[in-house]
Amino acid sequence: MNSFQSKLPEVGTTIFTIMSSLAVEHNAINLGQGFPDFMMSEELTGLVSKAMNNGFNQYTHMNGFPLLRERIAEKVEKLYQTKINPEAQITVTPGGTYAIYTALTTVLNKGDEVIVFEPAYDSYIPNIEINGAKAVRISLQFPDYSIPWNEVQQSITANTRMIMINTPHNPTGAVLTENDIEQLRKIVAGTNILILSDEVYEHLIFDNLQHQSILRYPDLLERSFVCFSFGKTYHCTGWKLGYCITSPELMKEFRKVHQFNCFSCDTPKQVALAEYLQNEEAYKTLGSFIQQKRDYFRKLMQATPFTCIPSHGSYFECYSYDFTNEADKDLAIRLTKEYGVASIPVSVFYKNGEDNHVLRFCFAKKEETLLEAAERLQKIK
Ligand code: PMP
Ligand code: GLN
Repeated sequence: MNSFQSKLPEVGTTIFTIMSSLAVEHNAINLGQGFPDFMMSEELTGLVSKAMNNGFNQYTHMNGFPLLRERIAEKVEKLYQTKINPEAQITVTPGGTYAIYTALTTVLNKGDEVIVFEPAYDSYIPNIEINGAKAVRISLQFPDYSIPWNEVQQSITANTRMIMINTPHNPTGAVLTENDIEQLRKIVAGTNILILSDEVYEHLIFDNLQHQSILRYPDLLERSFVCFSFGKTYHCTGWKLGYCITSPELMKEFRKVHQFNCFSCDTPKQVALAEYLQNEEAYKTLGSFIQQKRDYFRKLMQATPFTCIPSHGSYFECYSYDFTNEADKDLAIRLTKEYGVASIPVSVFYKNGEDNHVLRFCFAKKEETLLEAAERLQKIK
């Protein structure tokens, strides 16, 4: 076989797999990779069985089961007061990660620059680079992880093709405000800069904050790919189903890439979700349900040597430490092996490995899991 050049020479295995494998190996409680350990809605799993038994087992439309797209559009209008055309503006995807990759692949060319904020979800930069584009990295301001908009303005060049935002933010739980959106609008006004808005945690927002979806702003939606995940919304990360919303023009191009990658997604789950989406209660109560877990975990963590960096959304809360000089990666490994609690070291979300001595913990777990994990962490010396 001829040797070939890696397209991603600097990329190893994702931290989520590394930490989950280590957790299994050491029988540790896994507060690393973000997935719930409680049951998802039985009503929703029942609807999937019903769809299968009713014969919805063949390919559905490549853009997504039509009724599901209609229901998504209805939900968007209710939540964000924006009318979306389900025919032309929504495509169902196998997860949020795929939606992001497809959006980037749709528009990026060699030499393009993409502004990305670090700590950044780990797929963003490899997704940019595999398309021959360059990630222009800007650090969020520690410790509140806000966006330094002046620096963003100064980083714009003739090659800037896109700005990527993520709210609520993984790994930090930071949430963008109306003022952030205003700053973003000022920066992109009069340019051809596109936006990718990763909103997989749209419903997992706390403290009575309002989710600043790009979908609220039709002028920005024109130039944005907005990406969602049913896995996060309905506590079924293993379903790998999500969707992308954008303008009709951009969606036409997005679908050219999508149709020859996966073509269409899981039919019975889409049929089930089309029905379940009508249940407004189910998504309106998600924020308070998960906030209770954050509050419970935060309280327990007060008895550990960690310092909370408050999260306002997502499945995660970050905690800094100064009881040791160890690098965050080393500490995360040691806590897994010696104390039986896995977490995610936040330095992995910086390309240059910036280490502020912060670990990310996933609190989307049963109370008994969180209690046991915190009791173990309380023993740290
Ligand atoms: N973006 C962020 C910020 C995430 O945390 C995740 C993980 N769920 C995704 C995208 C991808 O979601 P999915 O599992 O649906 O691919
Ligand atoms: N989004 C999840 C997290 O941040 C993990 C997804 C994955 O494992 N790729 O933990």
